[in-house]
This record gives sequence, C-alpha cells and structure tokens, in this order.
Amino acid sequence: MTGIGKSATVVGAGVVGVATAIALQRKGFTVTLVDHQEPGRGTSFGNAGILSNTTAMPLATPGILREVPKMLLDPLGPLTIRWSYLPKIAPWLFQFVRNARPDKVEELSKAIVALSKPTLEVWTDLAAHAGASDLIERRGWVGVYTGADADKKAAYDIAVREKRGIAAEPLSADEVRQLVPGIARTVARGVLHPNAGHTVSPYRLTERLAQHFRNAGGVFRQAKVTDIGFVDGKPATLTTDHGPIAFERLVIAAGAWSKQLVARLGHKVPLDTERGYHVMISDPGVELRLPVSWSEGKFFLTPMAGGIRVAGTVELAGLDAPPNWKRADALLEKGKLLMPGMKTDKVERWMGFRPSLPDSLPVIGGTPKHANIFFAFGHHHLGLTQSAMTGRLVAQVMAGERPDIDIAPFRVDRF
Ligand SMILES: Cc1cc2nc3c(=O)[nH]c(=O)nc-3n(C[C@H](O)[C@H](O)[C@H](O)COP(=O)(O)OP(=O)(O)OC[C@H]3O[C@@H](n4cnc5c(N)ncnc54)[C@H](O)[C@@H]3O)c2cc1C
Repeated sequence: MTGIGKSATVVGAGVVGVATAIALQRKGFTVTLVDHQEPGRGTSFGNAGILSNTTAMPLATPGILREVPKMLLDPLGPLTIRWSYLPKIAPWLFQFVRNARPDKVEELSKAIVALSKPTLEVWTDLAAHAGASDLIERRGWVGVYTGADADKKAAYDIAVREKRGIAAEPLSADEVRQLVPGIARTVARGVLHPNAGHTVSPYRLTERLAQHFRNAGGVFRQAKVTDIGFVDGKPATLTTDHGPIAFERLVIAAGAWSKQLVARLGHKVPLDTERGYHVMISDPGVELRLPVSWSEGKFFLTPMAGGIRVAGTVELAGLDAPPNWKRADALLEKGKLLMPGMKTDKVERWMGFRPSLPDSLPVIGGTPKHANIFFAFGHHHLGLTQSAMTGRLVAQVMAGERPDIDIAPFRVDRF
C-alpha cells in the first residue's frame, strides 16, 4: 500500500484505464478517472472478448508479410487500407515491415508472452476483487483451418507456442466438429487453446470494474482532455472542456487517441489505429460453447451474453474516416460460411479503433522526462487480454515497487 496519501489521475476509461485505476486504488492511491464517454464505450466496448494468453507472436512476421498482397486484393477481406490514408500511415507501415526481421520477431515474441501469459491469473484476481467473476469463462478457444495448407498453418501455430511453453493441442476435423457441432465441412484442422478464457460481455466487464472503482471511492469525471498544462516545467493540470483538473501523477490510457497527449509530454510515438468491426447476432439458433477463430478470415466467433459476436479484421483508415459497414456485412457473411446454420435476422454492427504501434507492443511505465507521468496505451489486438497485467505493472511502478516482469521492452522512448 505504498500509494497511501498519494493521488493519481488516469485519462481514458477503457478497459486499460479502468484496470489501471483499480490497481492504483489497491495500492492505496486516491484516483480520479477522466473520460468524455461513459466507461467502456471506446474500443473496449466491442472486441471479440478473448483473454488470449496464448498469443506468442507479433503481427509482423515474414509469413504475414507474404500474405499481405493477397489480402489487399479483397477490399472486404481480412486486411484493407483506404488508399487516401496511405501517405499518413506509410511511416508506420515502414516500421511494421522492419519489425518482421527474424531476430526482432524473436525479441518481440518474448515480450508479448511475458505480458500475456499471466492473463488468466491476473484477470481472475481482478474480476474477483471487482465482483465480475461471472463475466469470465475459462473454456479455451479453437482455431480452425481450411484450404490446402491447413495442416501446415496449424502445425506452425502449435510450434510457435510450444517454443514458449504455451499449451496448444492439434485437432482433427472430426475433433473440431465434436467441440463445435455446427462448424462448416470445409474445416480441415483445428488447434485447441485449452487454457485461454473469454468474457461474455467486454462492455459489461469494463462497466462493472468502473462501478467497483466508484464504490471504492474513486472519482469519475466526464470531460474531454484537450491539453496538459505545466507549472515550473512540471506537468500539473489537464485542460478539459469542463474546466481544468489539477493532478499530482498522471496516467495516459486514452487508447488510440493517446498520441497527442503523449506528444505534449515530450514523446513522439508512432501510434496509429487498426480499425476492426463486429456483428452481434442475437438468437443465432446454433450452439457455440467456446470461441472459434478462423485463421484465414482473421476473425473470432465468440459466444456472448447477447448471442454470438463475429469480430475482427483490420482496416487501416485512421481515426476520422466514417465506418465502411460493408466490411461488417462481409464479416457476417464469412461468419455464416463458418457456421452455416446460424440465423442472422437480428444483428447489430459496430466499429472500433485498436490502438496500434508498429512493433505489436504497448507502452507501459514512466518517462525519464517527468517523474509524475506514466503511460498505459497501445495494446492493439490484445488490450482486453493485457489490461489487467498492464494495470498491475503501472501501479507497481507508481508505488515504487519492482514490477512483476521486466517492462523495459514497453518503454515510451523505444522508437
Ligand atoms: C474488432 C476488435 C476485436 C478485438 N478483439 C480483442 C480480443 O478478443 N481480445 C483482446 O484482448 N483485445 C481485442 N481487441 C483489442 C481491444 O479491444 C483494445 O486493445 C482495447 O479495447 C484497448 O483498450 P483501451 O482502454 O486502451 O482503449 P479504449 O477502450 O478505446 O479506451 C480509451 C478511452 O479513452 C477515452 N479518451 C480518448 N481520448 C480522450 C480525451 N482526450 N479525453 C478524455 N477521454 C479520452 C475514450 O473515450 C475511450 O473511452 C479487439 C479490438 C477490435 C477493434
């Protein structure tokens, strides 16, 4: 409880900000959380819900780069770029490609696993603390593979995990069908990730955590932060559309919108966004006991409280372009290809902004520039997964304790 008598302000009430706010409270800090939306209404609202403690690789690998040209040919496929956005995202893409060097992939893989492997243990603890255990399932998930290279892809996905001591079990097509009775006949192979989990509602999970935060004395201020003010060279106030908010210590956890605030604090980070979509299907009329991911389509089908969610894919188009709902419709079509019996009369569509850095690692920790500033953003495809651990690490650093894992790979000045 080394935070007793100290205060902290967190900007951003997504799952990362809320998990961090609670972790700080648990260390004894008095915490204020600031967001212009209600907690959990940003990207944390609509993700696929997977607690993916089995992810072992960064996004940029030589294998993925080989697939990119084919993916880009389909404007409604797993990866697309709005060509008008290309000049803006070109430097990010350049760094992304550079990170696919084998030695770099090895280094990034170790950091991803260190941050993600404790996920279930840390999330179980956080959910129990906040009274949200009913929102977390521990059934694992199944990756399914179609096409001529199904065997090869499944074997690769198992091998990269085995190397890091992560359980992943091969499944024949019949074994996949036993686990997922309605799955398409085109599925030739599967991989079971037995130790992973998922939430039945990403939004309710963040909301529940935020409610606990308030019940435990935390203050939520609904305001948009537009600038950061300094007193004698030290960051000291948030300028907001609802007046200034003074702070002692500040955590930037504003997801895909963190870049400008971080720049104000003296760090240029290549943060961009990988937009993703979901379609929430109520009354799908098929049984799905555990999440299924189709490696080729780059999306998940997840059983949730309100039905089945089809979520995923990547669109590089920045923070301002309107959604392309045809991508959500295509996602639904592909979901139906995977589960042909699924009824899709009642659906809701959503788009969100993954906060992505080109090396697939978030920024976690402090800055040598200012002793009272801390960061927790950039969790790309794994923000739900890594949020509980991120909160724990940030709180440990702020309390002057040694963090559970080495956080050097996540430092803000690594670019
Ligand atoms: C389709 C899709 C599927 C995904 N599936 C998974 C998955 O299965 N598992 C997984 O682990 N991750 C998944 N993710 C990624 C995950 O959702 C994100 O990494 C995570 O939600 C990021 O959380 P966050 O708290 O950083 O950001 P957000 O949830 O976006 O929160 C940031 C908050 O900051 C606030 N904010 C921003 N700027 C300001 C400002 N100036 N002033 C005040 N407030 C501000 C916003 O209003 C917002 O509430 C998925 C993402 C997508 C899009």
